[in-house]
Amino acid sequence: MAEEKMAFQAEVAKVLDIVIHSLYSNNEIFLRELVSNASDACDKLRYALLVHPELASQTGDFRILIIPDKKAETLTVQDNGIGMNKDDLINHLGTIARSGSSEFMKNLTGDKQKDMALIGQFGVGFYASFMVADRVVVKTKKAGDACGWIWESDGAGAFSIKEDKEAPLGTSVSLHLKKDMLDYLEPIRIRHLIKQYSDHISWPIVLKEGEKEETINAASALWTRNKKEITDAQYKDFYQSVSHAFDAPWMILHYKAEGIIDYTALLFIPTKPPFNLFQPDRKSGIQLYTNKVFITDDVPELMPYFLRFVTGVIDTNDLPLNVSREMLQKTPVMSKIKKGIVHRILGELKKRAENKEDYRAFWESFGIVFKEGLYEPIDERNDVAELCRFHSTAGDELISFADYVARMKKGQENIYYLTGTDLETLKSNPQLEGFLARGIEVLLLTDPIDEFWVQTFNDYQGKKIVSVMYAKSDIDSIQPEQTNLGEALSPEAAAPLIQKIKDILGKSVGDVRLTDRLTKSPMALITPEGQMSLNLERLMRANGQATAFDSTRILELNPRHPIIIRLSALVSDSAADNKVQDAVWVLFDQALIAAGEPIRQPADFAERLNRFIIGGLE
Ligand code: ADP
Repeated sequence: MAEEKMAFQAEVAKVLDIVIHSLYSNNEIFLRELVSNASDACDKLRYALLVHPELASQTGDFRILIIPDKKAETLTVQDNGIGMNKDDLINHLGTIARSGSSEFMKNLTGDKQKDMALIGQFGVGFYASFMVADRVVVKTKKAGDACGWIWESDGAGAFSIKEDKEAPLGTSVSLHLKKDMLDYLEPIRIRHLIKQYSDHISWPIVLKEGEKEETINAASALWTRNKKEITDAQYKDFYQSVSHAFDAPWMILHYKAEGIIDYTALLFIPTKPPFNLFQPDRKSGIQLYTNKVFITDDVPELMPYFLRFVTGVIDTNDLPLNVSREMLQKTPVMSKIKKGIVHRILGELKKRAENKEDYRAFWESFGIVFKEGLYEPIDERNDVAELCRFHSTAGDELISFADYVARMKKGQENIYYLTGTDLETLKSNPQLEGFLARGIEVLLLTDPIDEFWVQTFNDYQGKKIVSVMYAKSDIDSIQPEQTNLGEALSPEAAAPLIQKIKDILGKSVGDVRLTDRLTKSPMALITPEGQMSLNLERLMRANGQATAFDSTRILELNPRHPIIIRLSALVSDSAADNKVQDAVWVLFDQALIAAGEPIRQPADFAERLNRFIIGGLE
């Protein structure tokens, strides 16, 4: 049959262009990616044999051959795994299956180390071949098929496919190395790379030099080995390989559980968050094995969502080898293992949390995800709560709920928090004034997720989690530490001013009232309890979800503030009417700014302010 030429999907072409032209350093990972694909192919065929034993007649012992050919200047990685048919070739080596590649492009940082890590994570590992080769030839035959295929490309926009009647089962990928990449043909280099990146691969990796064949990896699953015999470097390499990562693991958890369910776990928490942590179609980072046979890396049942940054391997003998997707969803084995893992991870984190500095590094990478455990329906919510850390008004250190509770004031019943987009704005929010004056600590929450858990995580050790905006009477019973506060306007004396402000601001506010929780600012905005907070409203607006809650905001006045007292005196003076109007609008806009809100009419604001400045300069 004639050769067919086809163009790469546009996104693949772009990825290739980047791979070839920008990600040139650290190109040695191509071998790790090819070996990993070959190993996956063997895993897949072994799994398929369980369901289709008739395929067995075609297969031999699984292995991965690496064949350097100095004369031809080619390096070939050959497996006797599942193989690919024509559709597979077009779909897998011509397009990027997962929503991946445009995300890949978006996530490119220009930092070569990081961008390199993205290649593996996005499932574009095969294309790394083009970093070292100017032509790649793939010969492959799928298990069960009579005929094989040859795929060939120079990575420049197109590939060709033609039939190959001779092809043996499995896949061989031959790289025609670029002139400056010929040292990848040196056995010593190959041995070194395999040791470094692929030692744990459970199939033999065989280096074939002429007639000589030699297995160059340990070919035993790392997690089955004795912990004492595994070096840090081996753990790290394994982590990097299962996670397609470049960092070192922040935590390594390797144990054998024996009991109702037997399983071995080798789990990692990365140091740096993977870029796709928030992608909904992201696969879990856990690979499931049964008795050292790879089953799947798509097991959402094994890890709760708030621990989705954990990667690694679970191997159990308590599942049949031919376990199906449906069975995985139903079997109690999974939920029991999940319980065990979560328990271990949280226990380990508790130990690590004793070193604040060390734990902070974890928290800065994954706290934002971990906090989802405060509202995920799990039994371990209280343990999760113990492990959460927060910024607070007490200083720069991250604190726990336990720290907060230990510092609560006599008479204080609730844990108070304020949400917003960034720490600096939050710290200057007038809502905090009454709390600071009373020496009451407030949690400062800046992650979008905070808006949600505060709604559902009701209490920590019986202490309710309450927004400073809805402070309870427990606060009023605590005297402010600053005692030199001036006389306050009485509610009766303030009534005409309140009416005046309502008239001026009209629909911009839902209500105007006095508060004794402000000490420095003349006024501040809050939302009534039970309604969307200003911060959440802002988040929704940023998401394009328009909101119409403006009118329900409440403007609170500080009855001790000289400006409020002065305004109150001017209310009955009709000659001062314009001035009062200007002042009220400027103060209202100020309150918006203090709450981290945009002001509606910046030009009007500036004009009014300028009138005051002129007055002040006269
Ligand atoms: P990933 O392996 O992360 O999915 P790759 O770009 O490395 O991404 O490979 C794309 C796909 O091509 C694989 O998922 C697999 O389906 C197929 N493939 C690659 N190499 C082989 C191989 N040696 N044998 C069978 N299929 C392969």
